[in-house]
Amino acid sequence: MIEKAKKMVDFLSENHYLSEDEYLFLIKNRNGEITEYLRQKADKARREVYSNKIFIRGLIEISNICKNDCFYCGIRSSNKNCERYKLSEEEILTCCENGYKLGFRTFVLQGGEGVFPADEISDIVKKIKEKYPDCAVTLSLGEYQKSDYEKMKNAGADRYLLRHETVSKEHYEKLHPQNMSYDNRMRCLKDLKALNFQVGSGFLVGSPYQSPEIIAKEFKFIEEFSPEMCGIGPFIPQKDTPFKNEKSGTAEETIFYLSIIRLIKPNILLPATTALGTIKDGGREAGILAGANVLMPNLSPENTRKKYALYDNKLATGVESAEQVEKLKIQMQKIGYEIVCDRGDIKQVD
Ligand code: SAM
Repeated sequence: MIEKAKKMVDFLSENHYLSEDEYLFLIKNRNGEITEYLRQKADKARREVYSNKIFIRGLIEISNICKNDCFYCGIRSSNKNCERYKLSEEEILTCCENGYKLGFRTFVLQGGEGVFPADEISDIVKKIKEKYPDCAVTLSLGEYQKSDYEKMKNAGADRYLLRHETVSKEHYEKLHPQNMSYDNRMRCLKDLKALNFQVGSGFLVGSPYQSPEIIAKEFKFIEEFSPEMCGIGPFIPQKDTPFKNEKSGTAEETIFYLSIIRLIKPNILLPATTALGTIKDGGREAGILAGANVLMPNLSPENTRKKYALYDNKLATGVESAEQVEKLKIQMQKIGYEIVCDRGDIKQVD
């Protein structure tokens, strides 16, 4: 079994694809030895493209108001225990100013849906780009019409993160209420690609009802859609949601999947997420060692960080906070990586 799995990993690292059945075989036979074999190949693949460089993004959680009611998410509209906020343009620009001084050259504006009309967010993007022309702006504000995304692109937004959450329509419908549409989410991803955004998709690891078969399909989707970024992190229950008693995804499976994704697309921008750092001490370092090359410390105003509670015990202090970026640099150096202060765009490879 081990030899068969290793051969598949070798093939994946040479050819950047496997069949769905082969992915399924790897997923079902995950163990320590295969994880380590895969990890070494993924680390090598990443080093060939990015050497030991790690990119950082300053994450600004611009609002926790949301019209959606995703069953897994702590800022879902029907959570009455969530104290809502929306940052003003001035507050967002102050976050950028602080981040710039700390060395951040990418700002990620993330928030709930239905809060910022496209014109309002486009104006904010324009102001950020005028003040910081050497910085990239990433938006992660959910679903809009194509014409709205176009406004944001024309305003200067460089990247857009929109996890599809699950590749299976049937599964999507178990994670979301009826008024949310898998087809629309996928339409958004295609529109964003067509508009030349650097696009990030991604899925929750270990979400309720997820099967190994669905994960195998996730990898085929990444092969085919070929996103510039891919955000995966363990599902972690939040106490005010319908999934409060469900099991979390694990760091071990997340790390294994990070390595597979790195081998599918060696130049992909792959974050070691806050959720991975939350579910396990040292989870973020383990993610980096397994092939991730992006970290997104929190640059939101201190008094809002606790309110953006997507899941229980979400980290926002220590090296998770942007102010501690010097500590983060040392932490990364200790495991052999170097944080760089630039936009951190995807490197085009032949
Ligand atoms: N509204 C935007 C969207 O849907 O893309 C951005 C904000 S949304 C809160 C950002 C991400 O948080 C989602 O894509 C989801 O994967 C993640 N998330 C939400 N609830 C989570 C949970 N309980 N555990 C782990 N991740 C979660």
